[in-house]
Amino acid sequence: MAKQYGPAHQSARCTVCNHPSHSDIDRALIDGVPLRTLAATHGLSVSALFRHTKHLQHQLDLHQRQVDRSQITQFLDKLELLEFRLDRLFHKAEESHSFHVSLGCLQESFRVLSLWERVRHSLEDRS
Ligand SMILES: [Zn+2]
Repeated sequence: MAKQYGPAHQSARCTVCNHPSHSDIDRALIDGVPLRTLAATHGLSVSALFRHTKHLQHQLDLHQRQVDRSQITQFLDKLELLEFRLDRLFHKAEESHSFHVSLGCLQESFRVLSLWERVRHSLEDRS
């Protein structure tokens, strides 16, 4: 069996991660309560709390990444809906020979297309 390393393995052995009130401790750490105060309140050592701040950072990073991803997904969904509506409007306008509206749809479609391009570029920059 392969040995496990990294934050998940470290948090399994961490006394703070396994502490019954670890969510209160995490909140206090985020609020900037001094390690010495927390150590005294929860019967922990300052060094254990200090080591735990790295696990907390890892969790915060994961959470931030999840938030980012869901915001991007929501944005892309809206963009897709916009594209769909524009396409539908374009076809209706063409059927009723409203060439001004058709042209407007094409112009808006072009803007949506350049927005897709910008999103794609910014996603590439992130990775
Ligand atoms: Zn920990």
